[in-house]
This record gives sequence, structure tokens and C-alpha cells, in this order.
Amino acid sequence: MTDTVQQILIIGLGLIGGSLAKALRARNYCPVVAGYDRNPDELQAGVQLGVIDRAADDLNVAVATADIVVLAVPVKAMEAVLAQISPHLKPGALLTDVGSTKSNIVAAAEPILGERLACFIPGHPIAGSEKSGVAAADDALFQSHKVIVTPLAQNKDADVQTISRMWQATGAEVLRMDVKRHDEVLAATSHLPHYLAFSLVDTLAREEDSTEIFRYAAGGFRDFTRIAASDPVMWRDIGLANRAAILKQIDRFSEGVSQLRQAIESGDGEAMTGIFTRAQAARQHFSRILSSTAYATTMTTNDVTFHVQPGGGVTGTIRVPGDKSISHRSIMLGALADGITEVSGFLEGEDSLATLQAFRDMGVVIEGPYEGEVKIYGVGLDGLKAPAGPLYVGNSGTSMRLLAGLLAAQSFDSELTGDASLTKRPMERVAAPLRQMGAVIETAENGRPPMKISGGQPLKGIHYDMPMASAQVKSCLMLAGLYAEGQTSVTEPAPTRDHSERMLRGFGYPVSQQGNLVTVAPGHRLTGGKIDVPSDISSATFFMVAAAICPGSDVTLQHVGINPTRIGIINILKLMGADLELLNEREVGGEPVADIRVRYAQLKGIQVPEDQVPLAIDEFPALFVAAACAEGQTVVTGAEELRVKESDRIQAMVDGLKTLGVDIEGTPDGAIINGSDSFGGGVIESHDDHRIAMSFTVAALRAREPITINECANVATSFPVFVELAQQVGIRVTKEEV
Ligand code: NAP
Repeated sequence: MTDTVQQILIIGLGLIGGSLAKALRARNYCPVVAGYDRNPDELQAGVQLGVIDRAADDLNVAVATADIVVLAVPVKAMEAVLAQISPHLKPGALLTDVGSTKSNIVAAAEPILGERLACFIPGHPIAGSEKSGVAAADDALFQSHKVIVTPLAQNKDADVQTISRMWQATGAEVLRMDVKRHDEVLAATSHLPHYLAFSLVDTLAREEDSTEIFRYAAGGFRDFTRIAASDPVMWRDIGLANRAAILKQIDRFSEGVSQLRQAIESGDGEAMTGIFTRAQAARQHFSRILSSTAYATTMTTNDVTFHVQPGGGVTGTIRVPGDKSISHRSIMLGALADGITEVSGFLEGEDSLATLQAFRDMGVVIEGPYEGEVKIYGVGLDGLKAPAGPLYVGNSGTSMRLLAGLLAAQSFDSELTGDASLTKRPMERVAAPLRQMGAVIETAENGRPPMKISGGQPLKGIHYDMPMASAQVKSCLMLAGLYAEGQTSVTEPAPTRDHSERMLRGFGYPVSQQGNLVTVAPGHRLTGGKIDVPSDISSATFFMVAAAICPGSDVTLQHVGINPTRIGIINILKLMGADLELLNEREVGGEPVADIRVRYAQLKGIQVPEDQVPLAIDEFPALFVAAACAEGQTVVTGAEELRVKESDRIQAMVDGLKTLGVDIEGTPDGAIINGSDSFGGGVIESHDDHRIAMSFTVAALRAREPITINECANVATSFPVFVELAQQVGIRVTKEEV
């Protein structure tokens, strides 16, 4: 049938039937919303309360004129009602239901409806309350709730859409699911919690001093047991109707409770922490899924625009967020270490949280993160456990590539998956050398994720001449090398970041390094300890450049990582004449750190040395801004990689700076920038690239007019507190969320 619904009949004017009728009337879904109830008083009340347009006194007659018939009676009553109405259904009419279980209703409908089963489109609104009866009808009950429609093979898609639109008219979001799957999912998410609540209250109520217990019952008890006030008959019927799936969930739950009992009985605090932290993380993750901000969606969908007023200052002492590479590795190595690793300054970004979750899934007990603090109870090199399902690493290429090396050496099978964007990225670069070591790894087409890794494969050390300069590939092979027989060595064609080498040493694991050759051998252990994750030099860059270009500035950036493979920005700014000092140099977990003080000094244009380019590759958008404020010409060459970053960063910076009136010319591998005292303002397209957005925020310090920067949502992913810190030092930026 098409959507020309003239009349809808709702059978069973209880909470659900009444609420559906009321919602459809309120939204003028169709000319007539009729209702039927076996209890004439309820039916009259339905008319009086304005729940229905018309009361159907004779069910058979009413069915014969309805375009859609909705069964809203208890699941156990569905069969009898179906049998009664089936002969009277109008040709072409659609039939649906609201029952909380589906398989039993479909099984009952098959013999009754026969050929007409095609017109039955089962459904289930995931909304309700402990109330019942028509007086409880609420036209907002389904608003922003989910309704699961479980189409049958016989259904026409157009008819499924008609029923879906009926629910959408109530403000609900409609999902489709297979009948069997529906019953399994609901057994876990709805039926089990209801039975637990009933059972808990019943158990306590039977205690001798139950009155005392209930008198002192606090908020937690009330929250947890609210649903025990639900309709017993309905829940009895659900228990009878969805028996197998519910029993499976009760058994799984009993197993979980026994584990907790065991932990409490044996005074095993670590096991308890494990259960509670996993649950807490899962609960938080689950709330994020509901608010669509899980790490499943890495890019914020809200559009964010930055508005920056010209001028401002840059003074103060700040600490920018922790380094992402070191945050990832502190979790990985902390998990593989013996003893406890306490991490502070952990970057709570989507990517490092994905790594953290992956290790939790492999049985590692991890507390936090709470304001950058994480406590990892190391399980030793051989203590990881098989995860229950695929390890999901969101958008994090680092997690996937490094974990591949580690998992290739484990005794259990595993699978690494990621979000849509990670699924397009090449994994063969790690899979191929791991296979040479004896690993068994399957990837999807063209070497893309997911990666299926077979456990129990003995690895042997290899020498690998990396065809590309990649710290991820190098780190992956080193992690596999911890478990391989003999030495594993990697030669890199150009220097790459050496965080893994340094941090392995920081955990007490020997790594030898000769020129561009790195070697590890098995047979050693990692030892947990304290790691204060250094601040990310790439994030610090925006404030270094800000202070370097803004007259009167004096800023100190605390605890910044100054790994030699990352300090291109410091070297280049110094060559340009920046007044930049490294204070309080020290080492943390194998990584060098310092406080960086930058005061304003007039910069001068330079030819950027090509050997510094790889050491500052992420910093060029900000450096282009520094060059635009320098005296004379700055020439960047050998930086063609900038064209394949999150955006074509050369083009994005050239276009943006030109908008401000800067004399700049892009070249295939860099740019020629003629600096000036100040420039204009305008509207800048950041192309969803966080570094472009932050660079133009800084540029406003030397602008004469305001700068507006579009598409800045991704700044939150890499540098969540950027705007707040920028405001704190004196940059006049505000954020507008669209
Ligand atoms: P309700 O408020 O108690 O209403 C049940 C309705 O069914 C009443 O109109 C009742 O008539 C009628 N009924 C009961 N037994 C019947 C029988 N043997 N033959 C004919 N009609 C009968 O219950 P509800 O919460 O609306 O539940 C209705 C359906 O919605 C159930 O299938 C349930 O699984 C499903 N559901 C409920 C919730 C929830 O949270 N409540 C959520 C989603 C889905 P009387 O007026 O005579 O009592």
C-alpha cells in the first residue's frame, strides 16, 4: 500500500497503544485514529482523554475499514487477537505490532495469516514506563526514542517504509533488525536488567529485616530497581516468550557475578579494579555512542568556526596536552611491563583512548584516565589475553600498525578493525615484513584493514630494509621482535621518530642503535614505573610561533618533549632569529624534555635547510605564518609531503595567506614567502585541517582586521583545549559552534 492512510486502528489502548494513538493524533498523521479495547471503560476513557478519534465497539467491523492495524496487547495475547481479526482484515491493509518479543509473535502469525503474512510488519518501540493503561498515554513517549522494525522476508519494502513512517511521525528513530537478532539484543539490554531488578528486590524483600533495608535504601538502589515496579504480567509473558535468549543472558551474567564473588572472596583488589574500570569505560563509551561522540565517529560533525580579533598578546606559562605518540606507547609498554606504570599528562584524545581500550579488551587492568592520570597494571610480555571480539581502534593508524606487531606474536587469534577512514589506509607495509618473520596475517583487499592475525605462530627475527621512512613500521617490527627468535633489526632510509626505542629503554629493555640501524632481541623484560608524558611539541609550536611574531610576548611552555627527531621547529625558528631558550632540560621515560621560553624578537627570512624538513613536517603551517611576519624572504623546499597531509597544506596555506594579503607563492615542494610588518584579515578555509585552523588563529596577532576560520571542528581531536589556552595567553579567539 502507499502512504494514503485514511484510518488506523489500534487494538489495546494501554500505555503503548494509547501513546501511539495520541502521538499520531497530535501530529495529524491520518484522518481517523480509531481504538479498540476489550474493556469498554478504557475505551471510553480513550475518547474522553482525546487519545483516539473514534472508539471501535465491534472489533471485526473496525478491522474491515482500517488501512493499518496495530496490535498493542500483551505478547501472550497477540495470537488470540490475530486469530480473531485475521478473516476481517481489509484487502491491502497493513498489520503491525508493538510486542517486546518478536520470534514468538511471528511464529504465531505464520499459520494464522498464511499468504497474508506479507502484510504483517512486526515492530517494537524501545520506549515505555512502569505505568499501564490508557490514562498513562503520553504523546511524547516515542519522541527521540528508537523503534525497531523487524521486517519479514515476505514484506514489500514499500510497506516496511509505510510502517516506519508511521513511527517517524511520532518523533521516533526507526531501525531495522532481523527478528532473531532483535530477541537476542533485547534479552541482553532490556529483559535481563528487568529480571535482575525484580529478583534483587524480591530477594531483599524476603529478608527478615526488609523494612529496615528498604528504609535506608539509597539512590543507587532506587535507580537500579526502578524497573522492578513494571507490570508483572507483561514480564512474565516476555519470560515465557523469549526463554532461550534470556536464559543465555542469565547464564552469562551468573558467570560474571561468580567472578566478582571470587575476587571479593579472595581479596583480589586488582581483579575488582579490572571489572569496575572495564565496566565504567564501557558505560562511558556507551553514553558516548548514544550522544554520537564515540571514537567510532572521529570527526565532530558539528561545524565550528573560529573568529579571531586582530592584535592581542602572548604572555604566561602554560602546559599544552601530552604527546600522542608517547601516550600510545606508555599504554602499550606499561601493559607489557612487569609491575605498575603510572602515567600522568596522558593525552585523552580519541586515538590514544583507542589504544587504551584495546589493552583493556586484552585483559589489562587500567585505571583512568582521570585528568591525564592513568594507572596500568602490567601483565608482563606474555600476559595478554584473547579479546572477546575484534579490537576496534577507531581512526588510529598508530594503534593498528603497532598492535599488529604485538598481536602477530601472541598465542591467540585476533582481529584489528577501525572506522571508515582507517579502513582505507594501507596495512600491507606492516603485514608484509611481519609475514617474513613468520606471522600469519590476512588483510582485506589491497592490504587494507581489517587485519586478521592468527595466534600461536613462532616468529623469527629478520633484518628489514624499510622501503619508506616510517616510525610506525619500525615500531611494529620492534614489538614483534621482542617475541621473535634471534635478532630483529630495521634500517630506515631517513631518520624517523624514535619514541619506541627510547621508551623501550626507559622501561629497561635494551635496544641497540647504530646509525640508521635499530636492533632488538628477545629475552629481556620491561619494568613499569612513572611516566609524565611530555607535552606535544607540535601543539606547543603554535604558541612558540605566536610569541615569536607578536611584539611584547614572553611565554613559557612547560615540559615539552624535545626528542631530536621532532625539534625541527626549534632549529628553524632559531635560524630565523627567534629568542627561544630551553630551560630545565631533563629526561622522562627515555624522552628528553624541557621548558621552552620564547620572547618576541624580529624574525628574518631564511632558506629552510632541507635536512630540517622531516623534523618539522607537521609544523610548516605555523612556520608559514612565522615566515609571513619575518623580514625578507623565506624559501621552503623539499616539503612535497605537505601536499598529502590532512589537506594539501601548501595550497591551503598559500590560499589563506594570500587572502590576508601576504606575498606568497606556492611551489611543488614548498613555498616562497615574502614577510611584512602586518597583513589584513578575511575568511579562511581550513579544509577541515586542524593545523591550518590553529595557524591562522595565531596569524591574527599580526593582522589589522579580524580573521574568520571555517571548518575548525577537528581542532578538538588533536588539541582539545587549544582555544582556552590561546585565550589564556592573550589571543582574541572565540569559537562558534554551528
Ligand atoms: P498495558 O498498558 O497493560 O496495556 C495492555 C493492553 O492490552 C490493554 O489495553 C489491555 O486491555 C490489553 N489486553 C491485555 N490482555 C489482553 C487480552 N488477553 N486480549 C486482548 N487485549 C488484552 O501494557 P503496555 O505496556 O501498553 O503493553 C502493550 C504491549 O506493548 C505489550 O506487547 C508489550 O510487550 C509492549 N511494550 C511495552 C513496553 C512497556 O514498557 N510497557 C515497551 C515496549 C513494548 P485492558 O484494558 O483490558 O487491560
